[in-house]
Amino acid sequence: MKKLIAVIVVVIFLALSSFLWQIGKSRTFQFFGEIIPRVNTTEKVVALTFDDGPVPGGTEEILSILGQEQIHCTFFLTGAELERNMEQGKKIVAAGHEVGNHTYSHVRMLLVTPSFVKQEIESTDKLIRQAGYQGEILFRPPFGKKLFALPYYLSKNGRKTITWDVEPNSFPEIDASSEKIVEYVLQKTQPGSIIILHVMYSNRKESMKAVKGIVDGLKLRGYSFKTVSELLATAQ
Ligand SMILES: [Zn+2]
Repeated sequence: MKKLIAVIVVVIFLALSSFLWQIGKSRTFQFFGEIIPRVNTTEKVVALTFDDGPVPGGTEEILSILGQEQIHCTFFLTGAELERNMEQGKKIVAAGHEVGNHTYSHVRMLLVTPSFVKQEIESTDKLIRQAGYQGEILFRPPFGKKLFALPYYLSKNGRKTITWDVEPNSFPEIDASSEKIVEYVLQKTQPGSIIILHVMYSNRKESMKAVKGIVDGLKLRGYSFKTVSELLATAQ
């Protein structure tokens, strides 16, 4: 009997862990508050978003590409990098892009305490304001991971969790080549999509190279680019 109970307990524990693991990484569901992987619209509008940084070099390069394309995007920045590279943060704001909060230390926010969540988010908000950003500060969890404390804090504070529906960097065979990244994004993007790209670091050259192809290709297909906030405002 004891053995049976032990087996049942282990099975329940494994099933529950697997369930919570799936919830933790879901792009479209969380226990509290609003999570937004895309918006519902028939208009050909799309948001291009960049995660991590700012770092010197990568910031200037992406700002120059977006400046030539004359589009505005959303940058989800980490507090730690912004603190070290405030000059680059200010350049992103000055160029008219939207800045979102991507936590201070970029850890997986799964089994974290409420006080840790508060500290991670509020210290980063403060740095984003120091960079001169004045709009609503949207939030994106590192690695898209969240479970209890993070969504609870966000929903209590009326904050939206922004994920994505087009993620070329998540597939190594696509991520390895700028042509494949462009092809994947052009294929997967729909009206209202939120595209996630990582271009800041020196090991992300293929993604950086893909930006122009993505933007030109989507423009050619009739899309216009919005920040995530602007995209949310067009939702039907
Ligand atoms: Zn990240």
